[in-house]
This record gives sequence, C-alpha cells and structure tokens, in this order.
Amino acid sequence: MSSENDKNKLSNYSTETHILYGKDISNKWQYDHHVTAPITSSTTFRLDSVERGAMGFTNWVESSKHENDSDPIYIYDRLGEPNKDMLEENLAIVEKGETAVTFSSGMGAISGVLGILTKSGDEIIAHKTLYGCTISLLKNWYPRYNILVHQTDLSNLENVKSLITEKTRVIYFETPANPTLDIIDIAAMRQIADEANANRSQNDKIQIVVDNTFSTPYCQRPIEHGADFTIHSLTKGIGGFGTDIGGAVIGRMEFRDRLLLYRKDFGGILSPKNAWSILTYGLPTVALRQKKAISSAIKIAEFLEKHPKVDFVNYPGLPSYKSYNLAKKQMTNFEGEFAPGHLIYFVLKGDETNISREMGSNFMNYIAKNAYTMTLAVSLGHTRTLIEHPASMTHSVVPTDELENYGLHAGGVRIAIGLEKAEDIIKDLADSLDAI
Ligand SMILES: *Cc1c(COP(=O)(O)O)cnc(C)c1O
Repeated sequence: MSSENDKNKLSNYSTETHILYGKDISNKWQYDHHVTAPITSSTTFRLDSVERGAMGFTNWVESSKHENDSDPIYIYDRLGEPNKDMLEENLAIVEKGETAVTFSSGMGAISGVLGILTKSGDEIIAHKTLYGCTISLLKNWYPRYNILVHQTDLSNLENVKSLITEKTRVIYFETPANPTLDIIDIAAMRQIADEANANRSQNDKIQIVVDNTFSTPYCQRPIEHGADFTIHSLTKGIGGFGTDIGGAVIGRMEFRDRLLLYRKDFGGILSPKNAWSILTYGLPTVALRQKKAISSAIKIAEFLEKHPKVDFVNYPGLPSYKSYNLAKKQMTNFEGEFAPGHLIYFVLKGDETNISREMGSNFMNYIAKNAYTMTLAVSLGHTRTLIEHPASMTHSVVPTDELENYGLHAGGVRIAIGLEKAEDIIKDLADSLDAI
C-alpha cells in the first residue's frame, strides 16, 4: 500500500480502530494473505547477493530513511526483524509518535533512551517517586558513569527550574508515578524545557522522557502534551496478559537510528516471539481491557475512600484527589474522555511508623491466603487484580524513616485492577480490611 493511501486510512478512522489494525498491511513482511501476522523465528536472513547484503547494511545505518521501503532487507535479528518492526509501527501510531523502538524489557527501554541522551558529565532531573528499578539504575549505576541525578518533587515547578544547569540533558518522570500516583504536568515541563532550550544547540537540549506504563496509550499520550519520548514497559498494560516481558521507546524519527544502534550494541532486543504476542493479543485489546478496568477502579476507589480503616486514597478519577483537575486535563482516552487508569494507591490508617508497615504486611498476608479476586504479586495491567505493599515489597530497600523522601507511606498499598467484576473485588477488599 502506498504511503499516501496509508495516510488517508490513518486519518479517517479512530485510534480505537487503529489499535486493531495498526498499519493494516505492513511492508515489513510478505503476509498479504494472512489475517494474523505470522510469527517469525529466524535469527538470520538469507541474502540473495553480496550486493543485497551490502545494501542491507547501508540502509540499516540510516534506517529512518528506509522505514517505508517496499522490500526491507533483514540481516540478523539483533538489527531488526519483521515482528518487532510491525509492533513498532503500531506502537508509534497509538502513542502519536513518529517512531517506536522496542527493547527486551521496560528497563531496557529506559536504559536505552537515557543511554542515547546522556554521557559522562551530564545531569538528569527526575521525580522523587519512581519505579524501584529506575531508582536503582539512577542511584546505583549512573554515579559510576559520572552522570549526576537529582530526584526532586516535580509537582513543584520551582524545584525543576532551580535544578536546571548547563549540563541538564533529561527531565524524567512517570505520570501517574509508581506507586503513589502523583500526577506531573507534562505541558508545564514542556514550557520549562523550552525556556531552558532557547539558546542551546541541538545536542545540548533538555529532553523530556515520560514513563507512560501506568496509563497505557488508552489513558494518556505524553507526546500530545509535549513530551519528547514516551517509555513503556510492554510487560504491563500493553502486553496485558502477564505472559511476555518487553519495553518500548516512542519518539521523533531523528532519534531512531541512535536508538537502534544502542540496542544493537548493548543487545537488549525484544524477542520476536514476545513481539508477536504483544502485537497479536496485547496491543489490539488494550482499549477494551482498560475500559473495563477503569469502570471497576472508579467503584473500588469510592469504596476505599469511605472505609474507616483507610486514611486516604490516591486515584486520579476521585474528585477528592489533589491532582484531580490536572489528571482530567492530561489523562484522556482517544475520544478525549477522562480515563483515570486502573491503578489505585491507598494508605491504611495508623501513624507513619513500623506499626503501619507491619499492618500493611499483615493485610497482604491475609489477602494472599484468603482473597479469590486479588493476587499478592508485583506487576500491573494484568487480567487479574494484583495487589502489593510497596514498603515491604517493591520499595523494601527504602528504610522507614526515608520513605517520606520518596513520597512513600509505611501503610501504603498499590492495587492494579484486573477484569474481574468490581463487586467481587470489593467483597474481598471489605473482608480483608475487616480482618486487620
Ligand atoms: C514494570 C515497570 C517498569 C520496568 O519494566 P520491565 O518490563 O519490568 O523491565 C518501568 N516502569 C514502570 C512504571 C513499571 O511499572
């Protein structure tokens, strides 16, 4: 199909439909007569001649110029293959970016984008509350490369402004943030970065990187609000069934070649089999699954908010939530309707001490033994509802008296709503809260 035809098709239909069809007929592989893309399983590719091989390498170095070639030349899986390429085309479409590059995991995607944007001597400004392994990457590894990381409360815009120096290259955050669901104003960050970038050369510009894993593209497209890059752990809401680990970076075409080069040399490629599952099962069903989970999450958040053992509830869809108005502006589905996501963070009553940390653990252990519709497990965006206690699990490395520095609470609980009937989850929550 010609690219002109493609453009018409893309503008005539809703994104909810694009999620199913993506690029419709991709030129990445000859599968004109398959309805579902075939799974590829070949580490290497036959070249018809030395000349074709040489052209493959020449094209690969400038892959961004050959995105729409009608007869792409594949060389070796680590450089690219059809299943990843097709998934990347479709991810770029739903996230409203120019291009996507997949990685072996969400952490692979985060290291990839930060890897191409920073070098020794540079600085990163990040939100104080982040996914646990992202904190570990920034705190344990980057000092070894002489990359300075400032973690601060990005909901206070003055904090960001005061930390920007000539060496700042990246502003990094999740919104909603893991696990507290802090909402960061992407458009406001764009404004701050634009002011700082006004007199900078292209390579020195500050880039805004947003981890959109918690929202999925159904609830928010950070690029629409001014982000330069969107990150996904495909393992979560996009993968959707808890069967495959993967990650992706979505951004402008000018960065595609560098991302591919980084991926080729550091080696964190997405396996074609994982790419195929996410392309075939995960991405096409993300809107359907999110809609169902959101409608349940609203009911569950309202139930928790009224419960006497719950101190407070952070859920972007609750009018009582401090960032409700910002969430309403930023978190919308493809039709512009409010889509507050499927994650809820709530804090059990009790003071911020080891007593509430212990209460959280007891609550989890009761659920692990007795609840049918909630599973004690990390991860999110699954068909099943997953619940965890950050202070004793994902963020257990943080001592109680330092939890506050990361915006965490000893009695905080994160719940990722699945596809069960909301009333059944509420029944299990009510029973488990009674038990502590
Ligand atoms: C899970 C997760 C990651 C890391 O993704 P992996 O696929 O596990 O490497 C990064 N950010 C957020 C917000 C996540 O939930």
